[in-house]
Amino acid sequence: MMKKLDIPAKARDLREWLAHLESTGRLAVLREGVPLKHRLAAIAKRLDGSQAAYFPQPDGHPIPVVSGFISRRSWIAEAMGVEQAGLLAAFRHAADHPLSWREVEAGSAPCQQVVVNKEIDLHALLPIPTHSEHDNGPYITAGLVIARNPVTGIQNVSINRIQVHGKDRMAILMLPRHLLAFYKAAEAENQALDVAVVIGADPLTLLASQAITPIDHDELEIAGALHGAPLPVAKCLGSEVRVPANAEIVIEGKLLPKVREPEGPFGEFPKYYSAKENREVIEVTAVTHRSNPIYHTIVPAEMEHLLLGSIPREATMLAHLQRSFPGVLDVHLSVGGVGRYHLFVKFRKLREGEPRNVILGAFGAHYDIKQVTVVDDDVDVHDPQQVEWAVATRFQADRDLIVISGAQGSALDPSTTVGHDYGEDEVAPPHLQGISAKMGLDATKPVAFRGHVFTKVRIPGELQIDLDQEIVRGATVDWHEAKVRP
Ligand code: MN
Repeated sequence: MMKKLDIPAKARDLREWLAHLESTGRLAVLREGVPLKHRLAAIAKRLDGSQAAYFPQPDGHPIPVVSGFISRRSWIAEAMGVEQAGLLAAFRHAADHPLSWREVEAGSAPCQQVVVNKEIDLHALLPIPTHSEHDNGPYITAGLVIARNPVTGIQNVSINRIQVHGKDRMAILMLPRHLLAFYKAAEAENQALDVAVVIGADPLTLLASQAITPIDHDELEIAGALHGAPLPVAKCLGSEVRVPANAEIVIEGKLLPKVREPEGPFGEFPKYYSAKENREVIEVTAVTHRSNPIYHTIVPAEMEHLLLGSIPREATMLAHLQRSFPGVLDVHLSVGGVGRYHLFVKFRKLREGEPRNVILGAFGAHYDIKQVTVVDDDVDVHDPQQVEWAVATRFQADRDLIVISGAQGSALDPSTTVGHDYGEDEVAPPHLQGISAKMGLDATKPVAFRGHVFTKVRIPGELQIDLDQEIVRGATVDWHEAKVRP
């Protein structure tokens, strides 16, 4: 069982968390009027991982923008009220023990204090930034997209990139997961799918939205479990969709059947652009928000983006591997591997050959996994330098390397495409996208070895030393005498 610590959870809603960051020197208030095109994202990127960025009146817009408020692993652990070492166990516990949400009384939800349902103009209503150099205009990057399964009525929550290209029209990328399955079911009946796009959710609800669960597991119930209390939700004004009542902004709309419009290019998490393609379209029917809302944007490929994806995936990978391999102790999706592609596994090996089984198990767990490095239990998988040390000293490429050719990988990894010339089109046809090799590295030492060949050098007592007891504060040396001054 996970250890519950007496770190108070500080993240019941976004404002409480921002106030907590501010009171601990982790929120920078920027000057008024920062341009929404490129400049805002550039500043947020420079502050990434050190301070959240709060932009009052960006481009003169009355709604402030915030970014980067969960851009460190330690901050996420803090928001969850656990130590970093217990982060994955705590997330997994919540995913395994969801809590049903609680609907608030009609008219009482903060996210519906202001209602706009006529003459909607998203560009005027919301301060939507344009992030990267070649992005095709402003994008909503931190919108929780909530929809109901047309068959079961159970909700799904995901974060999808959303291009705002008309006053009330947005194009959305849906990867082949739950939201797309709902949409396909509705489209087959020539029906629109009601959706809500929630902007300005609290850190734990954002994190819960990224849980990797089977279809018909409502991520808002995982949010409740992370909070330790049922999540208050409100019914949308124009549909049956329930949204977090304490969110800042909600865009209500419909995913239109049989409609596709050009979307992209857009700079994505691998730090490359997705090309322009025809995508599904949301027609906006209403915008509701708090009376003084805050708009959240995620700067693509920066830490907030990578961690939101990687932590829930790590929790899922750990659970998946431990089912087959009890010796698996910890996993990490490295930042250099864009929080998706490179998995480090800490493993207590009892027999030779086991790391290869672990590697194959990891490839089967998620198609995004491209490289798996298995290390012993004396290596911290959250420290890439230690992992590289294990590869440098416990791995031989002709003996310990596994390569699997021609599997499915991430279509967003530009090296996956076979050939790059498709004439008029920038992208390969879907059936040729994402073809990827897999690489596994067994960087574990042999189970049995002679003498101290594989004994890691350690100095007795180094970890126990209290430097405050050992260092004489304020002492100076007389360098002529080479003696400490009395
Ligand atoms: Mn889901």
